[in-house]
Amino acid sequence: MRAVGLYKSKPGVALGDIPKPTIQRKTEVLVRILSTAIDGSDFSLVKNHLVEPPQNEEFMALGHECVGVVEAIGSDVKKLKVGDYVVPTVRRGCGLCPACQENMSDYCYTGLYKEHGLHFLHGFLTEYTVAQEKYLVAVEQNDLPIAVWVEPASIVVKAFDQMLRIQQRVPSACSHLEHNWDKQDWPGCKRALVLGAGPLGFLAVAWLRSYGIDTYVLEVVSRDALKIQMVKEMGARYVDGRNFGPKKIMEGIGHVDVIFEATGASDVALSFIEMMSRNSVYLLMGVPRAAENNVCFDANSMLRHIVRQNQVILGSVNSNAEHFRRATEFVRRANAQFDHILERAITHRFTLEQYEQAFDRRDDRLKVVFDISKS
Ligand SMILES: [Zn+2]
Ligand SMILES: [Zn+2]
Repeated sequence: MRAVGLYKSKPGVALGDIPKPTIQRKTEVLVRILSTAIDGSDFSLVKNHLVEPPQNEEFMALGHECVGVVEAIGSDVKKLKVGDYVVPTVRRGCGLCPACQENMSDYCYTGLYKEHGLHFLHGFLTEYTVAQEKYLVAVEQNDLPIAVWVEPASIVVKAFDQMLRIQQRVPSACSHLEHNWDKQDWPGCKRALVLGAGPLGFLAVAWLRSYGIDTYVLEVVSRDALKIQMVKEMGARYVDGRNFGPKKIMEGIGHVDVIFEATGASDVALSFIEMMSRNSVYLLMGVPRAAENNVCFDANSMLRHIVRQNQVILGSVNSNAEHFRRATEFVRRANAQFDHILERAITHRFTLEQYEQAFDRRDDRLKVVFDISKS
C-alpha cells in the first residue's frame, strides 16, 4: 500500500510502498485510514532526516495524527465493531515497566517504547493500520471533520492536567477563594502566555479560551497572518515578538500563571524562563533538535530565579488513551464554542500523491491534512 515517509538512505520525504498490515492477535483491529494530519514533529523529522524505521526496514511511513474506520476485528475485540470511527494513540509501551502496564506508556520508565510515525513503527500517512483495541479511541461520526485534532489535543489536555495538579500547591494569585486551583471556578483571574501559534499553540489557546482564561500569544509574524487572526477570534491577545523583547512583554502583561511553550526554538524557550512569574508553571512542549539553534545564557541567574520564585518547569510529551478520550470532548466543545474554528483551521488538504506540496511550508497555513480515502 502507498505510504508517505522517509527512507534511511536518502533525505527528503518520499512516496513509498509498505505491506498492508493484518490482524495477528485476537485483540487487534484493522483500521482503514481516512485522514491524517501532519505537524511540526513531522517537518522536523524530514528536515533533520531522523529516520528510525521498523526493524529490518529501510522506510518509515510518517504521520501520527489520524482518524480511520474499523474494517475488521479480532475475535476478542469487545467494544469496537466494523464501521466505527477511531483515532489511534501513538505510543506502544515497552510492556515491562509499571507505567506501560497501567496503560500510561506516555510515562514509560524504560524508554523502550515504539511510536507510530516517529520511532520504529509505520505512521498513519498510509492506507491501513492495525492496533489493539485498547489503543483505539472511538469518535462520533459528527466529529469526523475535527477528529485529526484529537491526537494533538490530547497532548494539550495532558499538559494542562499536570498544570492543574501542580498549582494546587498554591493559592490563586488573586484574592478570591473561589478561584483557587482546586475549585470549580479556578479559571477566574488566571492569565496565560502561549509561545507560538502553530497547531499546538493554537490548540493551547483554544483550551485556555474555552475556560475564559486571559490569554496572550507570542509570535513573530504579521498580525494579518491567518494563525493570528484565528487566535484573536478566540479572544486571545497577540504579542508581536518582533517588536518587544521578553522583559518588555512580561512587564506589559503582568502576572502570568502559566506559560505554554510551543515553538521548539530553544532561544525563545529559554528567554522566557527567566521571565516567569512567581509560583508559576512553564509547560515545555517543543522539541528542539541538536542541529538547530544552540544558545548561551546566564545559568546562575536563571537557576536562582527558578528557586527563589517557586517555579515549575515541566516537560510534557505524548499522551495515553484516557487523554485522547478527554481530547475528543475538548475538540468538540472548542469547535462549537468558536464557530467551527477547528474545521476552518484545517487550511490545506492533499492526497498522498501530493506529498511534496503538503510538506512545502511556504504559504500561510495552519493545519495540513491528507485525505487518504480520496487519494
Ligand atoms: Zn514502559
Ligand atoms: Zn480571582
